[in-house]
Amino acid sequence: MKLSNTPVDSINMFDRDIFIKRDDLLHPEFSGNKARKFAYFLARDFPSVEKLIGYGSPQANSLYSMSALAKLRGWELDFYVDHVAAHIKTQTEGNYVAARANGANIIDLSECPDREGRSSEQYITDKILVDEPNALFVPEGGRCEYAEFGVAQLAKEIIDWAEETSQQTLTVFLPSGTGTTALFLNKYFIESNVNIRVLTCACVGGDDYLNLQFTELSQEKAFHPKIISLPKKYHFGKLYRECYEMWKRVGEQGIEFELLYDPIGWLTLEAYVNHCGEHGPIMYLHQGGLLGNCSMLPRYKRKFG
Ligand SMILES: *Cc1c(COP(=O)(O)O)cnc(C)c1O
Repeated sequence: MKLSNTPVDSINMFDRDIFIKRDDLLHPEFSGNKARKFAYFLARDFPSVEKLIGYGSPQANSLYSMSALAKLRGWELDFYVDHVAAHIKTQTEGNYVAARANGANIIDLSECPDREGRSSEQYITDKILVDEPNALFVPEGGRCEYAEFGVAQLAKEIIDWAEETSQQTLTVFLPSGTGTTALFLNKYFIESNVNIRVLTCACVGGDDYLNLQFTELSQEKAFHPKIISLPKKYHFGKLYRECYEMWKRVGEQGIEFELLYDPIGWLTLEAYVNHCGEHGPIMYLHQGGLLGNCSMLPRYKRKFG
């Protein structure tokens, strides 16, 4: 099972070469980002654990990766969602379907009468964990200190590559959800005293949300990656023509990217290289997540042809 040591390729975008760290080539069940963030749960022994508990969107990459993790380790998975929309229940492929095939119990909080207005996380803490002594709780999208373990391995690979290829400096760009990957990467680079820095953009919530996430993960401001923002606000999971166009354009370079985070990532990177006078080498982190394309792509095709 391939869970580390991915290659680096190079493509031409925006009239320059951009290196691509191919974390999409990690084992398909732990594709990219989540493989790094959940590596800790495969590397360690958890003798008393029988069940994994998580929450988030029913279409999330993390739902699928957690289901794969639970299956591999012989654990159950209870995954709490706010609501499962009718169009998701009728899907025949994608994260939701694949997670269920792996045995995930997907629990719809809108059908829990004792929720009483609580957030998903609060509900799980108040009502569920008290009765689940053998459960391991993973916050949304793997946003927790456990993630630092696998992201540090990723950072090491990037440092080694930069040394082998004699990069004097390097900018690593990646689109963020919770910002966990971006923050732990940047922290590792700074603590290792190398000339590598992380730039990112907010795909979920806005810059304020992302800054808040960074602060929750580390009080040390110096570790927080720089956030690049676009003038237009994009809502996570919504369809935009320019996102679809950008996705196709970058795909023409021979590497398929995913459709939730990467279009915003590439649009942001384009604005950055065009306006910020950045001439040093740039590496884009491909964080996988391609399984979600089989539900996103038909939606895009229906809308924009
Ligand atoms: C989960 C995910 C992200 C977001 O990662 P964070 O560490 O939460 O910022 C980005 N891209 C892909 C493909 C993902 O699956």
